[in-house]
Formats: sequence, C-alpha cells, structure tokens
Amino acid sequence: MRRLSLIACILLLSTGVTYAQKQRKLKPGWNLFSPQQDIQLGKEAAAQVEKQVAIVDNRELTDYIAGIGKKLASQPEAGQFPYSFKVVYDKSINAFALPGGPAFVHTGLISAADNEAQMAGVLAHEISHVALRHGTSQVTKAQAVQLMFGLGGSLLGGGLLGQLAQLGAGLGANSLLLKFSRSAETEADLLGTRIMAKSGYDPVEMARFFEKLEAEEKSSGRSIPQFLSDHPSPGNRVKAVEAEIRLMPARQYSKGDSARLHREQAVVKSLPVPKKANTDFRNAGNPATARPSAQTKQYRSGGLAFSYPANWEIFQQDQANEITVASREGIVQSNGNAEIGYGAIIGVREASDAGNLEQSTRGYINQILQSNRTMQQSGQRQRSFQLSGAPALLNVFYSQSSYEGQREVDAIITARHPQGLFYMILISPEAEYSHAQAAFDQMIQSVQFAR
Ligand SMILES: [Zn+2]
Repeated sequence: MRRLSLIACILLLSTGVTYAQKQRKLKPGWNLFSPQQDIQLGKEAAAQVEKQVAIVDNRELTDYIAGIGKKLASQPEAGQFPYSFKVVYDKSINAFALPGGPAFVHTGLISAADNEAQMAGVLAHEISHVALRHGTSQVTKAQAVQLMFGLGGSLLGGGLLGQLAQLGAGLGANSLLLKFSRSAETEADLLGTRIMAKSGYDPVEMARFFEKLEAEEKSSGRSIPQFLSDHPSPGNRVKAVEAEIRLMPARQYSKGDSARLHREQAVVKSLPVPKKANTDFRNAGNPATARPSAQTKQYRSGGLAFSYPANWEIFQQDQANEITVASREGIVQSNGNAEIGYGAIIGVREASDAGNLEQSTRGYINQILQSNRTMQQSGQRQRSFQLSGAPALLNVFYSQSSYEGQREVDAIITARHPQGLFYMILISPEAEYSHAQAAFDQMIQSVQFAR
C-alpha cells in the first residue's frame, strides 16, 4: 500500500514535470483609473449609447441573452463588476462592452451565431475585456499625461466622462469603444475560454465564430464587420483556445441550447423596425469641413518642398521622416484613435532596394496592406510619371474611411529619393474626391526634393 502510494507520488511528480506548461496568469494591465471609476465611466457612457441606439425591448429575447450573460458573469474570472446585457436593433454583426460591465449585443450578431455556445463565446470574450479592464487601460496608455494631472479627484461635477473631456482627453462613449490591441484580444480569448469552460460551454465555439467572421470577410471582400475591426484577430484563435483547454481539467462541454437560440433568431426576424434610427455614436465629423482650400502655403524643410492647401496644417510625427498635412477636421477620432480621414501623409523611408522603384514600392504597399485589412486595389492600373525629375509611381486603393460608413480613396505616390523611397499618401472619402482632386494634383506637381 505504502509502496503503491509512493509510486503514485512519483508518477504525479513526473507528470508535474512534463506538464510544466501552466495556465498564463491574466491580470489587468497598467491603469490610472480605479475599478470604481471603470464602473462610473461605463454607466455614463452606457447612458449616452442608449440615447443613440435602438434598444430591443422584447422581453423573451432580452431575458435569453441576459440569462447567458449572467451565467458567464457569475464565474469568478469575470471579477466583481455589475454586468448588464442589452440587445441593440442593428443588423451589423457586432457586440461591445463598456468599462465596468454594460454589454450590448446587436441583433445581427445573434442571427449570425450557429449555436448557443458561439453566442456565449462573444459574451465571454466581451466580459473578459471588462474584467481585464482593457478599455480604461488603453485610455491610460493613450492619455497618460492628461490623466495624471486630472484624475486626482480634484474635479467636481459634470460626471467623469465630462471631466475627462474637459481635460482634453477627448473622451466620449465612442472613445471608450477602442479598437483593442492584438495582445488584448489574445488575453480576452484566453480568459473567455476559462469562463466558458466553467459555464459548461465548449470554448472552441467562441474561436470558431470569430474565425467564421474572418473567413466570410475574406471571401466576400466586403468591408470588415465592425466586430473584427474593434477586435482584430490575433491569428490562430481555434488553436490557441484548444491549447488553453488542454491546460484545464477535462470537462464535458456543450454547444448549449441551440433550439432555443434558433427560436430567438426567429424572434429577431419578427422584431418591428424601431422608430429610432441608429445614429452613429462612434464618430462625428463632417468631411466637407475638412475640404482643401484653393489658396496654398509652402512647405520647405530638410531638402523637401511642396505647396499645400492654406487651410491645412503640418503635423510633425515623432518619427522625424514623416509629416501629416491635413485640417484639424480631417483628423478623425475613430474608435478612440486619431486617424487621418482627409489629408496627406508624406515621408521618406529607407529602402535597401531603392534603386528598383517597382520593387521598393511593392514592399511598401504590402506593408500598408498588412496594417490596413480593409484596403484593396482600385481598378486603376499603376501609373508611372516624373516627380521632381525622378521616376515615380501612382497606385490607387480603396479602404474603409475613418468617417463612419464611407469608402476612402487612397492615392499612393512613390518616387526614387536619394535617401530611399519617397512616399505621399493622399487620403479622401470617396464622396469628397471631386473636391480634393485639384488640391491633390497641385500638391503632387509642386513636390521638389534636393538631390
Ligand atoms: Zn476583443
């Protein structure tokens, strides 16, 4: 008996060694907000959101979604936040959660789920973002300086969102809905896996649903569903979830009550179209206010000269070799990031193959395509011309504009330059292009570099 248990011990020890791979510890990152402030911010932002979207008040459907949500949120991994779950009448495939717990699911997402576990997976993923406090952690990183001066508690009245806006942190409900980083996505998938597993749902269904969205986006070539644009894929989601499952005690998993899901999908179909149209709370801004003027100003610095619209400004980037030329209205807050919706980016980059313009251009464009998955080649062929006496190429792309719901035209000009590859990206919403074209042409023709 003794010997047996000793052998058992040795066996246990040795398995302990082979299974050195442990579950990753997941905890919230650097954050200047307190968990209490997460809750307050989320409450205020939810009130803003609810004014602007159409909340579904069908009791059966709402109870169903909230029921799944509550079950997941009761797991210890979800933390102590007061979660709530509401359904938004919106055909786009999306769901989002605000700091501190308010979560919203679009009807379009409910319709897109193949089974209940997939629906639960989206909620578990959103709950994980809340529990790991990714929203306020990202705001912290982006706005650290303003926040350090302002979050000390000396500000009174007006609500936390309003106070932050006064600090210049530019926070509205929209900027709390950040585009998450890929590492935040990995964390939310991992924690979501644990939450689902404990609730009895098959965690792989979460990853399968996200990969299904990715596949649909790729095959249709249409713009990315909002969910994927806010939750960029960290890649190989199914594999990562399967690896995490292996680190947990074996359990029986289920796809949930899919008959009930299908019934609720029928309820979604029968919902009356709400009177309140979904106004866009993600993004304000009217591109017409950013239009280039006919008068021009001159830029001259570091061997580069060009003229640009007099109502636009030069914004110097931290990286010395790139400037942005735009009006302030052309810089759009999109999901919490400042993006150029209307303007130009100009720079010079090192290129080992700069002698071969075609090749260095292809390398540069591939890099852009990788960082912007909505971008696609327009029908227009590559055009070659001369820029300041040097061989140059023009390529035109379409992408999703930072101005919500609009298509963007991106004209990319590249030219051979003594320091490598010169590039100029001219950006405008497609509907604005006719107003921008003359100014863009003028900018291109005015470029001169010292050689
Ligand atoms: Zn996410």
